[in-house]
Amino acid sequence: MKNYNITLLRGDGIGPEIVGEAVKVLDKTAEKFGFTVTYTDALLGGCAIDATGVPLPQETIDKCLASDSVLLGAVGGPKWDTQPGNNRPEAGLLGIRGALGLFANLRPAVIFEPLRDASPLRSDIIGDAMDIMIVRELTGGIYFGKRGTFEEDGVKAAYDTEKYNVNEIERIGRVAFDMAMKRNKKLTSVDKANVLDSSRLWRETMNRLSKEYPEVELNHLYVDNCAMQLVRNPKQFDVIVTSNIFGDILSDEASMISGSIGMLASASLNSSKLGMYEPIHGSAPDIAGLGIANPLATILSVAMMLRYSLDEPAAADAIENAVAEVLKTTRTPDIYTEGTKKVSTVEMGDAVCALIKKVIAYG
Ligand code: NAD
Repeated sequence: MKNYNITLLRGDGIGPEIVGEAVKVLDKTAEKFGFTVTYTDALLGGCAIDATGVPLPQETIDKCLASDSVLLGAVGGPKWDTQPGNNRPEAGLLGIRGALGLFANLRPAVIFEPLRDASPLRSDIIGDAMDIMIVRELTGGIYFGKRGTFEEDGVKAAYDTEKYNVNEIERIGRVAFDMAMKRNKKLTSVDKANVLDSSRLWRETMNRLSKEYPEVELNHLYVDNCAMQLVRNPKQFDVIVTSNIFGDILSDEASMISGSIGMLASASLNSSKLGMYEPIHGSAPDIAGLGIANPLATILSVAMMLRYSLDEPAAADAIENAVAEVLKTTRTPDIYTEGTKKVSTVEMGDAVCALIKKVIAYG
């Protein structure tokens, strides 16, 4: 029987609660689909600072590199707000992304039909469903470029540099084209090629790459137009590929369209398919320990892990279908509406597990 080694970075705040439910669902899915999972815990963030003095111990990096995939809850909280910048929990997060070489960030923005009313957009704009995948370059561009603060004509000045080389663009481009091939074969590349040299290289490289993917329909949008189109007509998008800074902004915009932060998963991949999977929300210190956190974003992160790192697409489908089904009747407080049953974190995990079997039976 196939076995997968997963490192769990439960983290801080609600992290341990939501990861606990995701593990429960993964175990149930493994049982149904005939594989096993071995878990190793490792420390990241505030809990790592408490135990070792640093947010990212070397042991954590070693454990992650030795595993098939990594599941992260969330890190951070007021307890560690007085730490110096390079020793804050969030520094551990940036550090682990770098250490694992996670250059591609995948953020689906999906609206589940029962949660359509949670979207700030009118239902005629959203249509029957919204399902966009944003592929963001994660380790290059302006966040990693040359920067400085200096004095100019007697006043303080500062600069940051946006730089990409062809290899970096091709690498993220391939992830996006491959993703488009697995979906609706439609890819939108987003840049600012009317102004920036780095964007002109981006567009030129995407155009060249598209010759290797003749089945994928590639189009280009300037980032300002894309930001507008996302709220004007989100249905036009399937896969979007863009740079680090544009992706940071557009993926937050797209996730807001879905209306609920407790529902959104993400994946970060390196070139050998090792991935770190995590909900997009933070550690929610305001509700930590109350047993009311929504575990569905983390459970959906496990579905992404099964699809993109472990090559278990049927198991991924089963989890996603179970979540879609459970939302018809069962809600944690953050997504509760009248007429549904309000449940705790653990009860939501149990409800998804109970449906895994049923959903498989639907085929
Ligand atoms: P947050 O996402 O933790 O919380 C924002 C709001 O959403 C809160 O009201 C919270 O209760 C609610 N919320 C978030 N997730 C929820 C869930 N699963 N179920 C129900 N409600 C949920 O953002 P924040 O308050 O700005 O940050 C809190 C801490 O998390 C900070 O220390 C921040 O640095 C950290 N953070 C970590 C990550 C990460 O680990 N990837 C991401 C963002 C923020």
